[in-house]
Amino acid sequence: MSLDTALAQAKRSRDSFGSLPSSPSTSVPSSPNKKKHKKSKYANAPSSFAHSPLSNGINGLPSRPSSSSAPSSPSRKQLPSPSHEGGGAASAWIRDALKAVDPRILESRAALPITSGKQAIIDAVRSSDTVVILGETGSGKTTQIPQFLFEAGFASRQPVQMIGVTQPRRVAATSLARRVAVEMGQPDPAVLPNVKGKARTAAGGLVGYSIRFEDRTTRNTRVKFMTDGMVLREMIGDISPVQTSSSAMTSQTSALRSNLLLKYSVLIIDEAHERTLRTDQVLGLAKRIQRERKALRQSWIARGKPANEAEITELKIIVMSATLDANRFADFFATPSTALRANATVTDARALAAANTKQEVPILYVKGRQHDVAMFHTEEPAQEWTDAALRTVLQIHVSRPPGDILVFMTGQDEIDTLARALELYSSELPAWAEAESKPTPMSLMIAPLYAALGPSASLKVFGPTPPRTRKVVLATNIAETSITIPGIVFVVDCGLAKEKVYTPGTAVETLQVQEISQSAARQRAGRAGRERAGECYRLYTQKAFEALPLAGTPEIVRTDLAAAVLQLCAMGQDPYTFDWLDTPDPEGLQESVLQLIQLGALDIHTPPPNKEAKGEKATARLVLTGIGMKMAMLPVSPAYSRSLIAAAARGPTVARQVRDLIAVLSSDRSILVEPTDQEKREEANRAKATFVHPSGDHATLLCVLYAYLAEADKVAMLTKTRSQGSADRKVVEKEGREQLKAWCQNHYVHQKAVKNVLHIRNQLRNICRQQKLACDDDHPSTTTAELSSDDSNSDSDSESGVDRDGLFVTHKVASEERGEEDESFVGMRQSLLEGRIANAALKQPSAPNTYKRITSAAGAGSTFKIHPSSTLHPSKMARERASRQTDAILFEELVFTTQTFARTVSIIEPAWLQELATRK
Ligand code: ADP
Ligand code: MG
Repeated sequence: MSLDTALAQAKRSRDSFGSLPSSPSTSVPSSPNKKKHKKSKYANAPSSFAHSPLSNGINGLPSRPSSSSAPSSPSRKQLPSPSHEGGGAASAWIRDALKAVDPRILESRAALPITSGKQAIIDAVRSSDTVVILGETGSGKTTQIPQFLFEAGFASRQPVQMIGVTQPRRVAATSLARRVAVEMGQPDPAVLPNVKGKARTAAGGLVGYSIRFEDRTTRNTRVKFMTDGMVLREMIGDISPVQTSSSAMTSQTSALRSNLLLKYSVLIIDEAHERTLRTDQVLGLAKRIQRERKALRQSWIARGKPANEAEITELKIIVMSATLDANRFADFFATPSTALRANATVTDARALAAANTKQEVPILYVKGRQHDVAMFHTEEPAQEWTDAALRTVLQIHVSRPPGDILVFMTGQDEIDTLARALELYSSELPAWAEAESKPTPMSLMIAPLYAALGPSASLKVFGPTPPRTRKVVLATNIAETSITIPGIVFVVDCGLAKEKVYTPGTAVETLQVQEISQSAARQRAGRAGRERAGECYRLYTQKAFEALPLAGTPEIVRTDLAAAVLQLCAMGQDPYTFDWLDTPDPEGLQESVLQLIQLGALDIHTPPPNKEAKGEKATARLVLTGIGMKMAMLPVSPAYSRSLIAAAARGPTVARQVRDLIAVLSSDRSILVEPTDQEKREEANRAKATFVHPSGDHATLLCVLYAYLAEADKVAMLTKTRSQGSADRKVVEKEGREQLKAWCQNHYVHQKAVKNVLHIRNQLRNICRQQKLACDDDHPSTTTAELSSDDSNSDSDSESGVDRDGLFVTHKVASEERGEEDESFVGMRQSLLEGRIANAALKQPSAPNTYKRITSAAGAGSTFKIHPSSTLHPSKMARERASRQTDAILFEELVFTTQTFARTVSIIEPAWLQELATRK
């Protein structure tokens, strides 16, 4: 499509937007929707920061009793940290720690809406165990509150007491930690050396983050950003997998204590409105931990503070939300925990009861600076929203005053496609303007933003827009509330988002494009009015908006609960009686329990009948097995952890293969480049053919990884020999890196993605070692040296300026140290199958090339085909005249496009299924 056609189309789409402004000279456009919207959302906010009781019951929030009127509990006066070091020493430490703060940063912080409420927040946290803070996105909750609390002495140096901040998304955890590090004058946590011990601590500042497969904290960390998943992992604690019998009582008690989050004085549960399953779990568990720590502390005080026992401090909880659902959270924390009895370390029932009483939970409201946002809806439903998005962005660009654009899209693929299209048009804009004798439009800067992007990409998003340039951020719903992008004036909203959808009865979870809720649509629109009046273009009609559900459904009602159930059981909690914010569907829960029993992670214990005689009710109890505990300790899904354990039982070679494959599958990015261009795609397919393994996609992916490693080995050896001669080492190394890069390009291997996989693989390798899952590339020498060189594989490399490519990653895993490669990958496929019977399928005689999962009930469950991208797709098999038996397959995921497809597919033997079925 030429620019002209695009703009002609843009014109048409403009018409369909009702009263869209036609030229830059038009003043703020008015639309019939504007008033209504303004009233309902943007103009009716409270006048200023209000400490509860809220000024006028704002926005329908009933006022709650002020916290000061609450009876003060004995603990109220105990401030967690200064009690350790004495006020003077503590404040000296804080002053000292913050001495590198840039005064200009202080100025910009002072301008944030939340700053005027600083003292009120600190006071509320001091006087209440739990505080709910509500505030518009961008008001400063996430970046400022941890700093307020740090400055107020809630963190302490010795013993370590941290302020923890949880985030549902990895990108938010990393980017916010880095932002807060800048604000606190601390070193960037993303460039911490990936080593353990002193060297790392010396380089570490007060702010760190921890996300799956990437721990950027040190002993210096006092403000820690982490994903919900990571804090859940900490709550499981370090129970060694062998310690499951009741004889190890004392060590078990101390292990249980280790999961009371004792290193945290405050836990901030952020973005609670997103209601992810993990956030819900964290809410319930944090509540229980808070009560238990209170009871422990009370009993420590009652016993006269024995000096031989470590002091247990209380846990302050702050729940933060960007939407008006504060009461939900406040009510939840106000009531006693129902999950406290199970497995509590406190045996004194009276102390427990005293600590588990009703609480007063104040709600604080932070008003963001929200300007008017003019709303535009399409007049007719858009046929192709990606097209409509393209046209709308171009149209804004050529007709509206300066200001950056934020486009809400569904996922990485759509974002990449639109980014390419926009790049194309933007290069043609000057010529077009000249031909039309129009003033040359500004340049366009396209900045994608999705979960799989590394820190370097987010620089482009958050960095200042260059002069005479309009930034267009193409984002998934991570930009809805977690992340604030400065400079946005225009928002384009497609009204859709990718969500996990789990259909009970199928045991398969899929990512599906879903309509967003009205609440989410308002959040998206609100991104436009941060700095001045903005405009929001919805690629759907007003009617369609009104038909959207008011609020999104919590993940707990639409997701696979197996991982959550396993984690809860590992913490000694009963998933059926757990203190859920929203109780999960009993059927879904049952299914997950059955799945875990089938995987051997859970067992049902029925108490011996003589107990019944004593009047105790003989209820069957779910108990975690040794395998289950091992599974819970592995930071991958129950299916993968079970596969890994099954692999280890088949010997260290299979264990290494499965571990490496899990690393490949856990990466957000594909390690093979999949060009959209038809010509390039064929070239890529030819390149891929050199890696193809007859058993299917799993082994093929592994072959890609191992081919890369072999190439990197080769290059590293060559570099070593050459630099031992007289050649300049730096030059030789640079050539080596280029050689490897060229190899990747020629083979359509995504080098960044492979490096990410290698990073994950290293983390998994450490975890496997800890869990005694022997792999054949384990040996004592692979420690710091390899890890530190492997650090260059993380995304941070591009930031530090030098691209220390993965040259020296692999030499320690030289092939002679490995076991014999299992060329057929039989053990690997069998182990995979053991973890996920639900993803095994058989070919159906009824229609050609269709499959059905073996676990779906007769008649029920849909059939599907193999995705065209698979090496087992019938077209490819025909081309190479392969006569492989694809009667039984194992797949990673089902995707729904025009029909249902299975992605990442491998051949399995029907006999293996039989074996598994008769195993137990
Ligand atoms: P909230 O949590 O209330 O949504 P944040 O604390 O995340 O707000 O952000 C507060 C303000 O800090 C934002 O409005 C923005 O101006 C600024 N900010 C946040 N993150 C960044 C960043 N990475 N780079 C630059 N400015 C940022
Ligand atoms: Mg926030």
